[in-house]
Amino acid sequence: MAALHDWLQRAIDQPDVLHWHTWSALTPGPSLVVMGAVHGNETCGAHALAHALDDLAQGRLQLQRGRLTLVPVANPLAFKQNTREGERNLNRSFVPRPDPQDYEDRVIRQLAPLLAAHDALLDLHSFHTPGQPFAMVGPRNNSGAREPFVRAAEEMALARSLGVDLIVEGWLEVYDRAARARGETPDEVGIGTNEYMRSQGGYAVTIECGEHGDPQAVAVAEQAFHGALALLGLADVSAPPRFAGPAARLRDVVLRESPGDTLVRHWRSFDAVQAGQPIAQRDSGEVLRAPYDGLVLFPYPESEVGQELYYLAEPGG
Ligand SMILES: [Zn+2]
Repeated sequence: MAALHDWLQRAIDQPDVLHWHTWSALTPGPSLVVMGAVHGNETCGAHALAHALDDLAQGRLQLQRGRLTLVPVANPLAFKQNTREGERNLNRSFVPRPDPQDYEDRVIRQLAPLLAAHDALLDLHSFHTPGQPFAMVGPRNNSGAREPFVRAAEEMALARSLGVDLIVEGWLEVYDRAARARGETPDEVGIGTNEYMRSQGGYAVTIECGEHGDPQAVAVAEQAFHGALALLGLADVSAPPRFAGPAARLRDVVLRESPGDTLVRHWRSFDAVQAGQPIAQRDSGEVLRAPYDGLVLFPYPESEVGQELYYLAEPGG
């Protein structure tokens, strides 16, 4: 196995030190921050950004305007452990606190002001079942209390530039509905890196680059990074084709109620289901059917009780 890139090895050797690298061009332009390994076992972004650091250090890639920050390992403890979380999920309750309670709170105290100092965030993730890469965007423009937003057009343009042809919109609203289904009041737990970025006046896209550990996911992450650079005019790189098709809209989430709840087959994200088609079965024998023609998203056969079993989206149109 090839030696780990020096910067990634540093993150493992010193999980209590975050490192990032910023290039600032004297020609004004947009500012972009790119993060890998927010979830420690999702390593494609870390590897892609380590390559990008080499490209920038050695001049193969040159910033032409604006500002670019790369955070190859956003959660060093989880990365060191090769686990999703260090002490908790860094992509939940991403809100800086004066009194940090755990490792991720301490990470957020450092990362939150960094994110807030940029226009756009590209967050590089991977997923735990086979499937096609996809991008996630937030709400449409709105002036509501929960997630007001005015930069949906810029955010969607970023998602369309990343070289994937699957885009999902509207996560927080559906996550909040899941919280209410658990009898909880939606709170800051639903605020991840992207939601925090929007709360600070920026915009953000998460790209899920493929299955954890799939070497192809690194290439997907690199292509997405180059697509973002080209779109924002930060560097002269070849960009993937822009995706012009419709985005799917998240609509429902179904929670696991018992360890005996099962998915009726090995769903992949974006598998189409028709109204009435069985998707899962409760421990009680009750069959959960698609309430409308839609798409299965984020099937999680090993989720814990109270966590998401799968999501449903409406195909875009
Ligand atoms: Zn992730």
